Order: sequence, then C-alpha cells, then structure tokens
Amino acid sequence: MEKLKLTIGHLYPDLLNLYGDRGNIIALQKRCEWRGIETEVIEFQLNSPIDFNALDIVFLGGGSDREQLLVGNRLKEIKDDINRYVDNNGVVIAICGGYQLLGHYYKLKDETIEGLSVLDIYTDTGDSRMIGNVVIECNLMGNPVKVVGFENHGGKTYINNHQPLGIVKYGYGNNGTDGTEGVIYKNVIGTYLHGPLLPKNPVLTDFIISNALKRAYPDTFTQLQPLDDSIELKARDYIVNRFLGRQE
Ligand code: GLN
Repeated sequence: MEKLKLTIGHLYPDLLNLYGDRGNIIALQKRCEWRGIETEVIEFQLNSPIDFNALDIVFLGGGSDREQLLVGNRLKEIKDDINRYVDNNGVVIAICGGYQLLGHYYKLKDETIEGLSVLDIYTDTGDSRMIGNVVIECNLMGNPVKVVGFENHGGKTYINNHQPLGIVKYGYGNNGTDGTEGVIYKNVIGTYLHGPLLPKNPVLTDFIISNALKRAYPDTFTQLQPLDDSIELKARDYIVNRFLGRQE
C-alpha cells in the first residue's frame, strides 16, 4: 500500500507561538503517526522563501500585537502565493493572531496591519481584552461537535458573510457580540481558540488531516482509521461540563 505523507508548514514559529500553539503541530503529527502516516514539519522564519506547492497543511499561531506587526511587514510577499494555495484547496489552520492576519486588516490603536485577505474579515481593536475558556458548537463532517479552547485577544473580528467555525456556547468568540467563533472557508480554518486547540479536540484535528489527505491523494485516500480518543474526549468533556453544565 502507498505510504501516505503530509508536509506541514509552520509559519513564523519564533513570533507566532502563544499559549502552546506548537502543541497543535504535535497533535497533527501524533495522530498521523499513530496511523502510519508520515509527516514532515518545515518551520519558516520571517525571511525564508515559502514554496506553498510543497505544503499540505499551513499553520499560523497566535502572537502579540508587536509580533504581528513584525510579521505584517512580510505578508505582502506571500499574499499572492497563499491566496493561490487556498484557491487550490490548500489546508490552513490559523489561531488568534494568525487568524486575524488572514483578514484584510487588524487595526491597532495607532497603526493598521494589512493582512493577507485570504478571508473577507477584518479586525478592530476592542476596549478590553476577551480572556477565558471557550466552548463552541461546530458542524464537522456533517456532525454537531463541541470544541473547547482558551481565548485571549484584544482584537474584535467581523466575518461578513463567511460561515463561522462554530457558535459560541461559552466565552466571547470573534467579537463578543454576534455569537460567532472563527471562520471555515474552503479548507481554511481560522479561530481564536488556543489551548492548544487540537490535542483536546480530536474530531477537529482529524477533520484537518482528512482534508489534507483528500487533497494530496484524491484517487486513493478515503477515510482515516479511527483511534481510541477516550482520554482526549475526557479532557474536552471536562471543560464542556464545567462551563455548560453536565451534557447528556
Ligand atoms: N494580538 C492579538 C490580540 O490581542 C492576538 C492575540 C493572540 O494571538 N492571542 O487581539
């Protein structure tokens, strides 16, 4: 049988790496490894050229405003390439600061960071930070699923006509007012949820891996072999029960 392999591009890990975002990469790798799927992670520093054609998953983590400003200066150089990659169904997972940078802009008090315009969203600075645990309800692969995480952002994101990743059940989400959290568009997921997000939400992790494999192996890949997720789901359900009350 053909050996499957995914190449994960981690963009700017020295700058965009808040609250254990690197744990998301480890979760992607482990869940592949447990199924005999090979992974390679390529870390791109600010000056590294990026060949998006060689990537199956692009990961952008969160960052402080100062770090986002540093990254923002380089985004123009990758804007066309990443938009082509996304149009071509490339898989992207972007957390918080990285998610904001997928939009048209992130407006700070004194300056504005121009984003990649991969998503038709924009982010303004709010008056106070939105911090705490989050529970959202998503629909992944046709099934309703609760996803948990932790948010800490000053920016308020408005998603226009995009489909949100989920509906907020507990926490603030995109802007604390419209009840939406994140965006799901083609094979792109943007979200405010740190955690790290993926270890505690195996359904979401597998959704991302499946999308990448479908694109990389359209003729041979059908579905992921199931894993025993009892420990991961216990961690997830602990948070769901703590903030929403015991769920049946
Ligand atoms: N600096 C951004 C904000 O405060 C993103 C923060 C983050 O990535 N946690 O909104």
